[in-house]
Amino acid sequence: MMGWTERQAAMLKEMGLRVEVDAMATSALVARVAEPVAQPVPALPLGPRPLTLTPTPPTPAGLAIARMDWAELRSSVAACSACELCQGRTQTVFGVGSVQADWLVVGEAPGEQEDAQGEPFVGKSGQLLDNMLRAIGVSRDASGTDPSRQAYIANSVKCRPPGNRNPAPDELAQCEPFLVRQIALLQPKIILAMGRFAVQSLLRSTEPIGRLRGRVHRYQGVPLIVTYHPAYLLRNLDEKARAWDDLCLAAETADANRSDAG
Ligand code: URA
Repeated sequence: MMGWTERQAAMLKEMGLRVEVDAMATSALVARVAEPVAQPVPALPLGPRPLTLTPTPPTPAGLAIARMDWAELRSSVAACSACELCQGRTQTVFGVGSVQADWLVVGEAPGEQEDAQGEPFVGKSGQLLDNMLRAIGVSRDASGTDPSRQAYIANSVKCRPPGNRNPAPDELAQCEPFLVRQIALLQPKIILAMGRFAVQSLLRSTEPIGRLRGRVHRYQGVPLIVTYHPAYLLRNLDEKARAWDDLCLAAETADANRSDAG
């Protein structure tokens, strides 16, 4: 397990969190994060009763995708024209990171910069995501040799929705077999689902993130932690402390899953 370093504390500071570094602590998980400002507990949003979405039956395309290797999957994503998002994209955004990584981070859809560069999370949200991951010793850099410190990053939708609008349900559904196959190939030890579209794809729940975070879910047997999307965190700085708690829970769960696997 990783020990606390000044560098990690600096990273958390960069996330806007004050950290009390415990000299006796041997793990990031026992470090205490001080809330930036004491906040009243927000009321749960009122709204329509959350739906639980039912699984979509497999399509012939989905069945073919379920047998692909990484190279075939990448080519299949690049050639995809299953929904109208293909018309506006510069390129598809498949995913980034080591295919040996223990961590899988799932976001929503590419934005303008991701569409231009072909890599997920390269804009402002990506900088925050990288800082958050770095704070727990994890990175998208595929050159390392320790899978426990590596993250593969992918989106629920592989093409940029025009004007950065939300992905539509049919676009999420068309793209889902690609993410399902990425997960099956990667076999991560932990999945971090960021934001409601990742959660909708993976957990089939439209419950608010606030109700789903803070506990361990399972996706096809893999532990899954729900957290806020970095773009949301950039607009709601007070939630960063909760996102840090989610990361700690994810790191703790990944460690436990690794020990269970022997
Ligand atoms: N937001 C996402 O969810 N994914 C990206 O790749 C970029 C921004």
